[in-house]
Amino acid sequence: MQVLISSERIRDRVDELGAEITADFDGQPITVVGVLTGCLVFLADLIRRLNHPTHIALLQASSYRGTATSPGELTVRDELLPDMTGRHVLLLDDILDTGRTISKLVDHLKSKGAASVRTCVLLRKIGRQTVEFEPDYVGFAIPDKFVIGYGLDFNDLYRHLPFIAVLPDSATTGG
Ligand code: 5GP
Ligand code: MG
Repeated sequence: MQVLISSERIRDRVDELGAEITADFDGQPITVVGVLTGCLVFLADLIRRLNHPTHIALLQASSYRGTATSPGELTVRDELLPDMTGRHVLLLDDILDTGRTISKLVDHLKSKGAASVRTCVLLRKIGRQTVEFEPDYVGFAIPDKFVIGYGLDFNDLYRHLPFIAVLPDSATTGG
């Protein structure tokens, strides 16, 4: 398996992001909203670097992609979310690919009454974005490869890996 980002590099970058976010929010209470399931490992690490009054909330977003390259409709499940009215949100996702998921979720949280929504993604794929959107915090820019580990899955496997790796072709073809 080709390791793209080691656990040491992830740890160092999460340290930096935590310090940056702590400084930017300037003592204001943060509601961290994680996008299930890929956010879980990143969220658990990042919140322990926020020197802040912090609330945690979760939602799920999935787009059904068939074999076609164009993704299907985005479904948002937010029944676990508390009342968002007046909250300053830090929306956390594992990876920004086309940008559809995160931009839709920002609109969704604003429609639920959030006072502000900042966004943080661990990874951003270069050259893939189709929706104009600029996240506030990015961990790493990566090449256009399918990646797994540190929360990211392939068929719900590999999330537990402590590093980010490129999924080998053999994992998808069975050879
Ligand atoms: P977007 O809406 O930005 O196109 O897609 C974002 C979502 O697609 C991510 O939250 C993630 O679930 C999934 N995704 C995109 N690229 C990858 C990848 O390389 N690996 C994994 N595991 N998921 C990806
Ligand atoms: Mg996702």
